Amino acid sequence: MANVFLVGAGPGDPGMLTLRAKEIIETCDIMIYDYLANAEFLKWCKPECEILYVGKKGGDHTLPQDKINDLIVEKSRSGKVVCRLKGGDPYVFGRGGEEGEELVEAGIDFEVVPGITAGVAAPAYAGIPVTHRDHTTSVCFITGHEDPTKGESGHNWEVYGKSTSTLVFYMGVGNLPMIAENLMKNGRAADTPVALVRWGTRCNQTSFVSTLENVAREAEERKWKAPSIIIVGGVCSLHDKLAWFEKKPMLGQGVVVTRAREQASGLVNILSGHGACVHEFPTISVEHLDDYNEVETAILQLARYQWVVFTSVNGVKFFWEQLNAIGLDSRILGGIQVAAIGPATADALKDRGINPDFVPEKYVAEHVVEGLLKLGIQGQDVLIPRAKVAREVLPEELKKAGCNVTVLPVYETKLAESSGDDIVAALDNGDIQYVTFTSSSTVENFFELVKPEVFKQYPDVKIASIGPITTKTVERFGFTPNLEPEDYTIPGLVDVLLSDAD
Ligand code: SAH
Repeated sequence: MANVFLVGAGPGDPGMLTLRAKEIIETCDIMIYDYLANAEFLKWCKPECEILYVGKKGGDHTLPQDKINDLIVEKSRSGKVVCRLKGGDPYVFGRGGEEGEELVEAGIDFEVVPGITAGVAAPAYAGIPVTHRDHTTSVCFITGHEDPTKGESGHNWEVYGKSTSTLVFYMGVGNLPMIAENLMKNGRAADTPVALVRWGTRCNQTSFVSTLENVAREAEERKWKAPSIIIVGGVCSLHDKLAWFEKKPMLGQGVVVTRAREQASGLVNILSGHGACVHEFPTISVEHLDDYNEVETAILQLARYQWVVFTSVNGVKFFWEQLNAIGLDSRILGGIQVAAIGPATADALKDRGINPDFVPEKYVAEHVVEGLLKLGIQGQDVLIPRAKVAREVLPEELKKAGCNVTVLPVYETKLAESSGDDIVAALDNGDIQYVTFTSSSTVENFFELVKPEVFKQYPDVKIASIGPITTKTVERFGFTPNLEPEDYTIPGLVDVLLSDAD
């Protein structure tokens, strides 16, 4: 089997990577990558993977192509698995062909993993099918980088000009006036639609449609930049009608997610699905306790309790981890009533075969206690597995109601070991429109990493808080949240963001 792979990374949207590409990224020993529309994939490399950047952003070549070829051959000879990762498709204006030839000449076997090329994906995300029966019978991929005035030009402008083919130009922004001029000179009508799509498929995608005669001026007015795909032909007239991606309510809106990394994915995926540019900034990390003796004892004596009240998904997760560690499972809760303080916690319990006896409509400690009292919790023994440091309202209220409450720490949250520098840089760039807080500790740690006096410098950035308790903590730091959902849940938080961005 070959140990070298020329792999396409697709156009930028992380979802546009093939399964095969992901598999190779996850298993390779050496990763040699170009400037990519999205370098997120590198996080899937094994920790011991050797990661080499060989550049190519515009004219800035970190390594010239012949040196890149030498490097690939040298690394491949080691017998280790080499992933040569390129944007889009490796054989479409990616010089993958040349690298393949070098490998063949060196007697090294390799495989190619095609990727989704920007020339198809960027138009598709801008509502432009590159072929359409009403408009064209062919599509032509062209480099816009070659200087068409040069004697040795490989372009046949006469053919491009006369054909009805959809023309898709890569690397063409700098030469746009020349491209438009040559096409019109060779027979394409001045009113032929032309579209430019910048950062196609990413949350910062932008595009516009013009005509051959106006496009160069318009691009200049808009100070249009690379990387962009240029599409010429009747299909561009479908842009408005078929736009779907650019209709997403949060497209281009920068949102900071401060939840712990392990917990962030739900919120991150929903927001990304609505087009937001999500900045993951885990301010807390959820960690094991040093010692689980107390938890083990409580579990072994669980029959003493009439109620177990779970206050978070993590509470459920870490409680079950210990349950399993001592060889027990959900059956131990058989004779005990179980409460979850919110829908996500309830789902975590359902995943473990427990249908909670009580889930309040809204999580405010007072509501919870009221609901539990209706179910007759007064006077009973209640166990609350939860974080080491947490608010005392629920245990206090239950005690007031005459319950015998035992608080059982099963995990702890700590200040994440991250720096606020990237977030401050993104704030400076104007890339952030919203900061979301999903608990008081995310607020406290956020302002530990990004000082309140620094954050004050960005008054246009809106704060979204999950509920009144988190809001109080935000206020303590001198800020007032702009958004707060009515039901204090993650879906509720997403809803208020969506209606605000709309
Ligand atoms: N092998 C790549 C193309 C590399 S050439 C592929 O198959 O897609 C680099 C050019 O690709 C850029 O100058 C730009 O024209 C285009 N390009 C790459 N990613 C893009 C993106 N996300 N949006 C728009 N154009 C992109």
